Amino acid sequence: MPPQKSERKKLSMKDVLLWAEGEPPKPGPRRIGIHTSTFGGVQSAAERAYRLGANTFQIFSSSPRQWQPYSLTEAQCSDMRRLREKYDLAPMAIHTSYLVNLASVTPQFHRKSVEAFRGELQRGLALGAEFLVLHPGSFRGRSREEGLELVAVSIAEAAQGLDLETSGLRVLIENTAGAEFSLGGSFEQVGQLLQRLKTVCPAGACIDTCHTHVSGCDIVSEAGYEETMQRLDEAIGLNSVFVWHCNDAKDPRGSKRDRHEHIGKGTIGLETFRRLLNDPRTKHAAFIAETPIDEAKDDLRNIEALKSLVVS
Ligand SMILES: [Zn+2]
Ligand SMILES: [Zn+2]
Repeated sequence: MPPQKSERKKLSMKDVLLWAEGEPPKPGPRRIGIHTSTFGGVQSAAERAYRLGANTFQIFSSSPRQWQPYSLTEAQCSDMRRLREKYDLAPMAIHTSYLVNLASVTPQFHRKSVEAFRGELQRGLALGAEFLVLHPGSFRGRSREEGLELVAVSIAEAAQGLDLETSGLRVLIENTAGAEFSLGGSFEQVGQLLQRLKTVCPAGACIDTCHTHVSGCDIVSEAGYEETMQRLDEAIGLNSVFVWHCNDAKDPRGSKRDRHEHIGKGTIGLETFRRLLNDPRTKHAAFIAETPIDEAKDDLRNIEALKSLVVS
């Protein structure tokens, strides 16, 4: 059922472009931002990010749950570059559609995934994005090893003939919540895939705090945080973590349930984000929230929450 009139108004007021007025909040010393809507054209995401006081952001370049790429005109791509330059918005990450499964055992689905991923890479290049974030997929019907191998081969196929290196586009493998058959539910699996990608294309990791927590790692206690960071460093290398998805979690550690919560309002809590944002080993990274917008300005509040934790 379509939303009623009053509800429609409430929904639309979740868009910063409708409520923003005056000077946006100033960005801080770290790269902090949020996943931003492209409603009204892909370039409008840059305007939203700026209005929210972000200096980095993430977008979808296709419908996240349909096989439908967003149409991109040259004018939109140059607008995106111009706005990013004007507002000092960097890096920009694109999140791959959730449908893409490069480890699928169904040949048709696998083919569709490789083609869709190639489209994601092409749009990343056209838009001048620095990062393309990918969930490594589900290996159901194969061994985990075979799954990881197929993902690497599939990325190589999708990237064939595209010059990622010169354009500065890097594929980031994201750790997942650790559901059965999901690849990337541990740092070690992400590390193994990155090993395989070494000769394929520029690659690195995107680590999601919610996924890390619900997959079972302790990032909440002080000792646990330190141990988890050390494990991450051994498995992947902290220098290769270019993006941190900063999401609090609705569910407890080890639950394997992936439901994002507002920063500081979930089972992770503010202290972990404070440690992470002020950790000298993450200085080079971007911190991007993927938190829900339940009420108008939730996106603004989550960015502010992260910014307020940075000790400059
Ligand atoms: Zn994420
Ligand atoms: Zn998630």
